[in-house]
Amino acid sequence: MATLIERVLGRAGGPSPVELALPRTASDDGSIHLVNEGDGRYDIIEKGDRSAVTPEPWAQYLYFRLSDELRARLSSCAVIEIEYFGREYATFRLQYVSSDREAPYDGLYKEAEQRWDGTITEAPTWKRALFVINDFDVDPSRSQNLGASFRAELRQDFYIGRVSVSTDVPEDLSLFSEVAPLPSIRKSPDRVYPIWWLFVEITNLCNFHCTFCPDEIMERKRGMMDYEDACKIFDQVAREKNRLGPLYPIKLHQMGEPAIHPRLVDIVRYAEREKGLPIELNTNCSLLTPELVDGLYDAGLTNFILSYQTPDAESFETRKVKNKKLTFELYLDKVRMAVERKIATGAATRLEIDIMNTLGSDGIRIVGSNSQADRVMLDWISFARALERKYGLEPKSHDLNFVDGGFRFLEHDADTGRYEILPGVDILWKELHTWGNIIQGETSRQQVDGYCPAPNEQFVILWDGTVTVCCTDYEGTLAMGNVHEQSMEEIWTGPKWRRLRETMWEDVLESKTCRVCKGIEDPESELVQIQA
Ligand code: SF4
Repeated sequence: MATLIERVLGRAGGPSPVELALPRTASDDGSIHLVNEGDGRYDIIEKGDRSAVTPEPWAQYLYFRLSDELRARLSSCAVIEIEYFGREYATFRLQYVSSDREAPYDGLYKEAEQRWDGTITEAPTWKRALFVINDFDVDPSRSQNLGASFRAELRQDFYIGRVSVSTDVPEDLSLFSEVAPLPSIRKSPDRVYPIWWLFVEITNLCNFHCTFCPDEIMERKRGMMDYEDACKIFDQVAREKNRLGPLYPIKLHQMGEPAIHPRLVDIVRYAEREKGLPIELNTNCSLLTPELVDGLYDAGLTNFILSYQTPDAESFETRKVKNKKLTFELYLDKVRMAVERKIATGAATRLEIDIMNTLGSDGIRIVGSNSQADRVMLDWISFARALERKYGLEPKSHDLNFVDGGFRFLEHDADTGRYEILPGVDILWKELHTWGNIIQGETSRQQVDGYCPAPNEQFVILWDGTVTVCCTDYEGTLAMGNVHEQSMEEIWTGPKWRRLRETMWEDVLESKTCRVCKGIEDPESELVQIQA
């Protein structure tokens, strides 16, 4: 009997039969092009008397890359059927490239609804999940990571035996009567995930004492990482990156102002030019000079985050700058200089100007009204236009009605409210970060969920080599080891970190730091078991 896809493609006049076979070995990508690289590596094993694809313990996705020809045939409607080994509905999420531009990431990474047969036995057997997608994007130039048309995002072990893609629903559609809830996005402590965000704090010294930062109350010893130690970390990351991560550019801070480090440019150059590791540098901008900025651009810096935050003289007071010569006007000049040097030098570095959004905050007020935000935006657009004229750039078109009252920037999150003023230069409105409920202006409510994604995603190396689990832990109380004594992988997969992940999975928060961060009412208690 012809398979579903054979029938569909046959009717569409395409080559027939077309079998969407799963790979036979882990080096074969099969006719459905199951990608075996990056964070989508898999093995082929025997499961329930059949061969099954199963992700490696470090994988978090399976990526499926359909041929352009097949995508064109799907013409917006795609029916994806996946046979999996499990107890009930499939414990992975299916995400796909969508023509819905309102979906996250401009139509990428949209979740597909899973339909399943809710009457079947809960015993672990081979079962079928159906995903009927009515806004599948057929444009071959649009794809997800690793060129994928769709992907299975997983948090637990799973096994798949067959995948088919069609334009038609199956004849036994009535069996798929239940809509499965979206599986939990909790990352299982039984799996190992690549690091998403690696922080390398090259110093925790800072020349600002911002009201919205715990710098003044931080008791941790101050110091700087040696250039050689930073290079050793980058050597290790470059060796292990394909497996260990990070998936995103390395950040050169946890606490502290990186521009205080006398070898900042050398550090960036070594990572970017010698090791091919993208760096994201976050600076308060106060120490920027044209020489330093040009040096960073020349060193190949990938992302430059200008933590401008306070866009007027009054809010600049909250930075509590000891150098009284640094007026707000001089400070603004430095931020603008960094933008201008990018244009003047043609640097490929992406710039982000962060400004603080305190619309929902009860305490600290920086920019708390949309009209105030609109004025700031118009000022930056005017500055950008002056640069365009000065450097003969093609003028960027701005809808001033949209900017001035139409959009309401403060009611969007940093990503959806991102606005490009020049090519590669964005303004972001960042909500006040409470540093785990330490800083006033607190807006988070008490949580009932003890799980936190940070220990599965972040790896924070403090200036003295101590490793902690999240950027919020400014004192390093959740220390998991030290990179001068163990490898990063040993720390990331070691028993101490594993225990933290396991207890969080059970909604138990053993650390006071976490309990305070999660808004638990009694952070002094020895152990809090949260009842969801
Ligand atoms: S302090 Fe604990 S709960 Fe808060 S972000 Fe860090 S790991 Fe998560």
